[in-house]
Amino acid sequence: MIIDCAVIGGGPAGLNAALVLGRSRRRTILFDDNKPRNAVTSESHGFITRDGIDPQEFKRIAQEELSRYPDVKIKKQRVHRLTKDSGLFQVATENGEVFTAKNIILATGFKEVLPEIPRVKEFYGKSLFSCPFCDGWELRDRPLAVIADDHKAFHMAKVVSNWTNDLIVFTNGSKVLPLEEQELLKSKGIRINEKKIASFIGEEGLLEKIQLEDETEVYREGGFIAAEWKQAASFDSSLEYTVNEQGGIETDSWQRTNIEGVFACGDTRIAGPSQLIIAAGEGSMAALAVNAALIEEKFSQENQHRKKGESI
Ligand SMILES: Cc1cc2nc3c(=O)[nH]c(=O)nc-3n(C[C@H](O)[C@H](O)[C@H](O)COP(=O)(O)OP(=O)(O)OC[C@H]3O[C@@H](n4cnc5c(N)ncnc54)[C@H](O)[C@@H]3O)c2cc1C
Repeated sequence: MIIDCAVIGGGPAGLNAALVLGRSRRRTILFDDNKPRNAVTSESHGFITRDGIDPQEFKRIAQEELSRYPDVKIKKQRVHRLTKDSGLFQVATENGEVFTAKNIILATGFKEVLPEIPRVKEFYGKSLFSCPFCDGWELRDRPLAVIADDHKAFHMAKVVSNWTNDLIVFTNGSKVLPLEEQELLKSKGIRINEKKIASFIGEEGLLEKIQLEDETEVYREGGFIAAEWKQAASFDSSLEYTVNEQGGIETDSWQRTNIEGVFACGDTRIAGPSQLIIAAGEGSMAALAVNAALIEEKFSQENQHRKKGESI
């Protein structure tokens, strides 16, 4: 059977794409191996009606809603190969199944690459985060850190200062802040520490101190880290999508990539600070674009048949 769309990735982007496709009576398979970017956290904020929800509960509700639509199937498998042949896509999963699809929606997300500081992973998602708009509220008015060893330090310090007046920027041994930026930050009461970080101290993911390489310790209850990003999925694939400067898959405003029939939405496209609700919105848009392509295909074929019929 040829399906209308294979949605690869079952985070908010892929789930919302599948919902709109299911409601449009499009034969859809959603592939997901359940390794979302926010697996490290137990609360998601900023999605109206779902503020503070556990990400796995968000997913459970979404899958339950999808189960109402008979044209949508969920395969809890990792897709490892994608190929295009004669206008159709072959989607191969790790356990050897192969599916044929007219369209592909890539909603595979991305992964953080955290700085190599001992114990950083114990705190990331619990008291250290990357997006102040997601987790700034919970850390408001507390002694916070911005940890950034590149040009993002200045921007992040300005943003995070919205939530606290007790802020220190840790550049982890790098001299990334020009004098002018340092003076501007200091004029707003933001301190700067350029020493290398030796480790994080605290229990059960709750930060208490940042230990520096000269063994001094600075009291901090949480903070924000400037992470690097990389695509979560790497396919064995002949499809060559264009990527933007951040490494996100480039699309137009309809989520269409440069390859006909391939759409991208959510973090995999943005590869930068993002949110569940933005990913879900883009998933919806990608599904509308797939619908537009299928409608176009149907009517152009019917036009062709009609013309053929008329000429007989
Ligand atoms: C610590 C942390 C806290 C956050 N807090 C918030 C918050 O409070 N509010 C908020 O709005 N946002 C928050 N975010 C951001 C939010 O998690 C992302 O913006 C959102 O998850 C993006 O959704 P997505 O569907 O694009 O990708 P994801 O949610 O990452 O989903 C991608 C899915 O695709 C699957 N996948 C990948 N490759 C394959 C493959 N080859 N085959 C099959 N499946 C595959 C993955 O396993 C995963 O399930 C947070 C992020 C982090 C890291």
